[in-house]
Amino acid sequence: MDLHTIDSVTMPRTRADLADLCATDGLMAGGTWLMSEPQLHLRRIVDLSGMDWPELTITDAGLEIAATCSISSLVAATYPAEWAASSVFRQAAQALLASFKIWQSATVGGNICLGFPAGAMISMASALDAELLIWKADGTDLRCSTNEFVTGMAHTILRPGDVLRSIQLPAAALRQRTVLRKMAMSPLGRSGAVVIGRATPTGILVSVTAATDVPYVIATDSTEPTKVLEQVYSAIPTDAYYSDPHGEAGWRRQVTGVLTRAVVMELAEPRVNA
Ligand SMILES: Cc1cc2nc3c(=O)[nH]c(=O)nc-3n(C[C@H](O)[C@H](O)[C@H](O)COP(=O)(O)OP(=O)(O)OC[C@H]3O[C@@H](n4cnc5c(N)ncnc54)[C@H](O)[C@@H]3O)c2cc1C
Repeated sequence: MDLHTIDSVTMPRTRADLADLCATDGLMAGGTWLMSEPQLHLRRIVDLSGMDWPELTITDAGLEIAATCSISSLVAATYPAEWAASSVFRQAAQALLASFKIWQSATVGGNICLGFPAGAMISMASALDAELLIWKADGTDLRCSTNEFVTGMAHTILRPGDVLRSIQLPAAALRQRTVLRKMAMSPLGRSGAVVIGRATPTGILVSVTAATDVPYVIATDSTEPTKVLEQVYSAIPTDAYYSDPHGEAGWRRQVTGVLTRAVVMELAEPRVNA
């Protein structure tokens, strides 16, 4: 799409180059959303690809994902064998609508910054205890969880000039088994509910996205399906489920329950993460 209000395009190379950003500047990562609809409030595109951040950095502490890392790179990379949870990268990417068409360009950070309920990288990050690093416009750094980052449907804590720099996944979470289940109204449709379960030493951590306006992460103290479901249902207010053409709120709540049970039961099976 031609963005006819844009007067200039710049490509910053350093953090100092990002210092003068304002509300009429549009940060561009993969551009798959930015270029998909009119951006009448924008006058300048700031192309983050020039920052040249290393896409993926594996350390003893875990995995650092640059905000500009493409979803395809995240899926295609090879990870330490003991990182059972790395299988969830592909599963989450496949939960994106029309996933294969946008994987190459769409970035992990761009997906998270949109703050959509069906943001599959939000699902992945919230299930794996991600810590997000934000370069604030005033030059300071802010670290927060995915849940603190997404404040509502398509709303985040980002303010004009703020840049999401990276997503840090701790090694402890990456070593644990995960199971993802998605439900949509049609086979390749937009997700109506995405539930990811992660087996922790004390129970099952359940992440619910797509069904609710913001991500919910519930660290349960059980591995028994009915008890886990009770804790999930009591942690999510009924009015957090929303209605749109891709699903009605009551349906999303019911589906969340079905998927939670399925996830817990699969995690109980003694087999390697698929
Ligand atoms: C066919 C199709 C299907 C899609 N399906 C889905 C879907 O199922 N779920 C979903 O959530 N989205 C979906 N999208 C929307 C979008 O393509 C994805 O969310 C994608 O991951 C966005 O990443 P991007 O790198 O292209 O972001 P961009 O389009 O470059 O940016 C998206 C927004 O984030 C901001 N931004 C990007 N990077 C940063 C950063 N580092 N710091 C601060 N702000 C930043 C941009 O300014 C912009 O406002 C779909 C799009 C298409 C075309």
